[in-house]
Amino acid sequence: MRNKLYIGAILFFCGSAMGSFLNCICDRMIRKESILGRSRCTECSCVLEAIDLIPVFSFLFLKGRCRRCGKKIDPFCFFSEILGGLMYVLICRRFDCCRELAIYLISGSTMLLIAFYDSKSMLIPDWAMIFLLLIRIVHCFLMKEDPVVFLIRLSGSFLLSLFLSAFIFYGERITGKEMMGYGDVVLILILGSFMDLQENLLTMFLSSLFAMIYGIPMIKKKQFHCIPFAPAICLAYLIMFLYDRQIMHFYLSLFQK
Ligand SMILES: [Zn+2]
Repeated sequence: MRNKLYIGAILFFCGSAMGSFLNCICDRMIRKESILGRSRCTECSCVLEAIDLIPVFSFLFLKGRCRRCGKKIDPFCFFSEILGGLMYVLICRRFDCCRELAIYLISGSTMLLIAFYDSKSMLIPDWAMIFLLLIRIVHCFLMKEDPVVFLIRLSGSFLLSLFLSAFIFYGERITGKEMMGYGDVVLILILGSFMDLQENLLTMFLSSLFAMIYGIPMIKKKQFHCIPFAPAICLAYLIMFLYDRQIMHFYLSLFQK
């Protein structure tokens, strides 16, 4: 029991460090800065030292303020660390096989980066999608996936993407408003190829639900005319990767007498 707690704490720490790193990468890429070099306070530009960079703890000890200038640190930094930590713990709990674990830790980290990037810039970087596609291909070979199963899954996600593209194309012409981006469709095409069409449809439902939860307050505040959809897509697929059996079991039980 105690060992499990230690392992859980180490995993949480590694995940929160990854979450912090991905958030930092996103910020620098959006500002078109080099991703190399020391981290700095965005307010006073002072170089951050080791004590300022301990995931989760630094934010709590410093009460969310810069140690030098006292200005508030973006709470998103803390949020990204918690999210990364939780994700690593849950992925390691779900997958025992080392190869599968590595695949899902890398996929999860890439999905986290895509979600952060989209929520900050309303864009998904092409290279992150290409990387995710490469992970999917590696997954197919590493897990010795049946080629027929792979093709069925790929066809399912392709059909879903085709339907979504048509929905965007005609929806925008009819309503005259911007709907979801084609980047989101490509993201669904890649992530959808990890699972069956039935699971994909359920994931689409979850994505829409999550997007409504954070999207409606954003639009009501009138700060945004459209909302980032990739965070909802990534969260829904991540939940499906982790709890596919339980979710499908619950879903199918709804139709049984
Ligand atoms: Zn500062």
